[in-house]
Amino acid sequence: MEVRHTEVDVVVIGGGSAGSTAAIRAQRELPVGRVLLLEKAHVKRSGAIAIGMDGLNNAVIPGHATPEQYVKEITMANDGIVNQRAVMAYAERSFEMIRQLDGWGVKFQKTQSGDFDVKKVHHNGSYVLPMPEGYDLKKILTRTIRRAGVRVSNRVMATRLLTAEDGRVAGVIGLDVRSGDLEIVHAPTVIRCCGASGRLGLPASGYLYGTYENPANAGDGYSLAYHAGAELTGIECFQINPLIKDYNGPACAYVTGPLGGHTVNARGHRFIESDYWSGQMMLEFYRELHSENGPVYLKLDHLAPETLTEIERVLHRTERPSRGRFHAGRGHGYASDLVEMHISEIGLCSGHSGSGVWVNEKGETTVAGLYAAGDMACVPHNYLLGAMTYGEICAESALRYLRDGRPGGGTSDARATGEPPTTGALAEQIALERARLVAALGRPRGIPHHQFEYKVRRLVNDYLQPPKTANRLRLGLEHFERALDELNEVGATSPHELMRFVEAGFIRDSAEMAARASLFRTESRWGLYHYRLDYPDLDDDAWFVHVNLRKASDGRMEAFKRAVAPYVVSLDAGERRSYYRIRVPATADSGAPVVAGAKGPPPARPTEVRPASSTSTHQELPS
Ligand SMILES: Cc1cc2nc3c(=O)[nH]c(=O)nc-3n(C[C@H](O)[C@H](O)[C@H](O)COP(=O)(O)OP(=O)(O)OC[C@H]3O[C@@H](n4cnc5c(N)ncnc54)[C@H](O)[C@@H]3O)c2cc1C
Repeated sequence: MEVRHTEVDVVVIGGGSAGSTAAIRAQRELPVGRVLLLEKAHVKRSGAIAIGMDGLNNAVIPGHATPEQYVKEITMANDGIVNQRAVMAYAERSFEMIRQLDGWGVKFQKTQSGDFDVKKVHHNGSYVLPMPEGYDLKKILTRTIRRAGVRVSNRVMATRLLTAEDGRVAGVIGLDVRSGDLEIVHAPTVIRCCGASGRLGLPASGYLYGTYENPANAGDGYSLAYHAGAELTGIECFQINPLIKDYNGPACAYVTGPLGGHTVNARGHRFIESDYWSGQMMLEFYRELHSENGPVYLKLDHLAPETLTEIERVLHRTERPSRGRFHAGRGHGYASDLVEMHISEIGLCSGHSGSGVWVNEKGETTVAGLYAAGDMACVPHNYLLGAMTYGEICAESALRYLRDGRPGGGTSDARATGEPPTTGALAEQIALERARLVAALGRPRGIPHHQFEYKVRRLVNDYLQPPKTANRLRLGLEHFERALDELNEVGATSPHELMRFVEAGFIRDSAEMAARASLFRTESRWGLYHYRLDYPDLDDDAWFVHVNLRKASDGRMEAFKRAVAPYVVSLDAGERRSYYRIRVPATADSGAPVVAGAKGPPPARPTEVRPASSTSTHQELPS
C-alpha cells in the first residue's frame, strides 16, 4: 500500500450535487490545482442525481413564494425543530442558483410566456419546478467542473479526516479504491458533501445495494464528521419514504400530483390531502398500509391518455429509465392498474428529512475549517437545490476562512513543512488508519464484508424501524456495540473489498448514532420518523430542542440537548399544527374498490373505514 501526499487549499469530498457546486465555486477564486474534488465513484455518474432528476422539490421563485413563506413551510414540515436562519440562507439564494443552472444549460419547465412553471405539492405553498429534460443534469455539472479547472480524483474514497492538535481540520485520508494506495490530502479547509446515510436499513427486497438512496452513500459523511469531533443533530428523525413496491424507487407523486395523480388506499379513497413527504404524511401512509384499507396505491388510471403519455415521458426517461421496464415486465399500465406502494428502509438524510452534521447558515460545522452541505448537513428538507446552494455557501465560507480566519500554523502539516509529516498528530493519525486498512487486508479469510453488513442492517430493521420502543432500541444498541469488535474480524482481498470494509464501519457508526439519539428523545415527533410507542405524545415542554451527538473526551458517543435558536419567521399555534391536518376524513360512503379483477386490490368491507381521528394514537401539539 503506497502512501502519496498532496497539498491543496480546499478539498471537497463527494462529487454529487453539493460537491459539484462547492468545487466550482471555490475554484472561481483560487489558482488551478488548489481545489481538489475527491469522489469514490466517478463524477460523470455519481450520487443521487447519477441518472438525472425530474424536478426541483423546493424552488423559491419570486412571484410564486417568498423566502419567509418557505421558512414557515419547512418549520411546519419539520415539527418546529429547525435552525430557521439556515433554512432562510437557502431560501434567499434559491432563485439565484436556478438562474445559474439555467445559464449552464439545465432545462426547466416554463410556461408559454417563459416563466418558470412552478407546481404545488407541499401542504401550503408552491415550490416544485419540473425538469422534464433533467436527464442531462449530471453531465452539465461535470462539464462545468471540467471547464472551471477543478482537479478531480475519481475512485478515491475518504476514510478518515485529519485533525490538527488544536482540533481544526487538517485534511483527508483517501483510499484509491482501484489500486489500494492511500492518498493523503493536506488542506486547511474540507467541505464534505458525501450524501445521505442510505445503507442503514435493509430494503424489503433484501438487496444490500437496492436502496432508495444512492448506495455509494453509506453514511460516510456522518461517520467522518463524528470521528473528527464534529456534532451531529436530529439523527433520531429518520428518513422513510413511500416507494413503489418491489421497485424501491419513488412513485413520484411530485411529478404526477400536479397532473392529477394521487395516493389512495385499497378502496380507491384518497386518505391524505398532500403527497408532500413529511413525518406526518408517512405516519398516515403507514397507518393506512397496515390497516384493513391497505395496501396503498398511486392512482393515475383516471387521467387522460395524453396526460399519461406525458407522465411516462418524464418518469421513464429522466430519472429512472428502469421504471418503464419494471412496469412493462409486470404487464402493468397506468391506464388500467394502480401502482402498489410500500415504505422504504430507514436512512439518515437531511435532504428529505432533518438529520445530519450540525451546520449553521454558513455551512460551518463545530470543527474549524470543516464544512458540510447536502444530504449529510442538517438543513431540513433541503433536496437537490438546497444541496447545490449550500455547496456554494460552504465554498464561500471556506474561501473566507482561508483569507482571514485561518488560525496560525504550528502543526506539522505538509503545507507548513513542505514535507509529509513524520511526527506529530497527523503522522500518528495516518499511521493508525494505514494499520487499520492493512490489518483488514491481512485477514483474507475474515468475515466477508457483505455478511457483516447484512447482519448489521437486518438488526437495524429489527430494532430501529419505527414505531420505536426503548426495549428494542437498547437491544439494537447492544448489537451495534458488539459489531464494533466484529468489524475487526472483517477481511478484504482487494482494494474494492477494502472500500466495503470501510463502508461497513460507516454503516455501523450510523446505526449506533440512530439508536442512541432515538433512545435519548423520550417523546414522539416527526410523525413516523420518530414514533415511540412508549412515549406516543409530543412533549414540547421537555423536547422542543435539538438532540445532538458527539464523541466525548473518553471516546464514547454522547447525546445532549441544544436549544432551538429564536425564529426569524414566527408561526402561530395553528400554523405549527398545519401538517397534522393532512388526513382526509373518511365519509360514510366508503365506495367500491376502483380496480376489479385479478390486477386490482382486494375489496374491503365498507364498515371498516374509520375517521382518522378515531384511529390516531399520536397526540396533536398542545395549543
Ligand atoms: C431517488 C431519489 C429521488 C430524488 N428526487 C428528487 C427530486 O425529484 N427533486 C429534488 O429536488 N430532490 C430529489 N432528491 C434529493 C436530491 O437528489 C438530493 O437531496 C441531492 O442530490 C443530494 O446531494 P448531495 O450532494 O448531498 O449527495 P449526492 O448527490 O448523493 O452526492 C454524494 C456524493 O458523495 C460521494 N461519496 C460518498 N462518500 C464518499 C467518500 N467517503 N469519499 C468520496 N466520495 C464519497 C458519492 O459517491 C456521491 O457522488 C432525490 C433523491 C433520491 C435518492
